[in-house]
Amino acid sequence: MIIQIPNLGPIENNAYIISIGNKAILIDAPPEPDKILQRLEENNLKLKYILITHGHTDHIVSTVFLKNQTNAEILANENDIKMFQKPWNLLHLRAKPFTPDILLKDNEEIKLGNKNIISLKVIHTPGHSQGSICFYQEKEKILFSGDTLFASAIGRTDLPGGDQNQLIKSIKEKLFTLPLETKVFPGHGPSTTIKTEKENFYF
Ligand SMILES: [Zn+2]
Repeated sequence: MIIQIPNLGPIENNAYIISIGNKAILIDAPPEPDKILQRLEENNLKLKYILITHGHTDHIVSTVFLKNQTNAEILANENDIKMFQKPWNLLHLRAKPFTPDILLKDNEEIKLGNKNIISLKVIHTPGHSQGSICFYQEKEKILFSGDTLFASAIGRTDLPGGDQNQLIKSIKEKLFTLPLETKVFPGHGPSTTIKTEKENFYF
């Protein structure tokens, strides 16, 4: 089951809960963590992993709070480690520093569950930040794209660590090679598909 929690905080972040049985994975830790805890509680879910798509403050601001509340492990890519350990100030958002429990590499599988399992593949897509990663659920053909790919847009690259050519290369070589019917759930805004974005890509 996938639960989308939209419009969190001043930049309207999306968080996603993926569950199997009573276990759950959270994708990103945006503002308004009470809404995330509420959805976990409503569905009787125990949070096991907090997956971080990248180190920008709107995606990590509640990481430490949610870990303290749930005892979940934090998983992220090492290339954004400086932002996790010394988070940037963003608008009024102030994130507590943390070090991920598990550092994720490109192509690594994250698994949760016993008989039925959630399996997510890590796709390293540098460009929006150097540690940006997407998570791909191969069986269901679902991609969690963070701020790398949005509906009709791509991530900004004007912040430190951003590189537009690298971002376009990551999208073309690592995301547009996924099946066309793949559903895309971004870090902000509505969902889309690889087919739609590939057909309308103007970079
Ligand atoms: Zn970002």
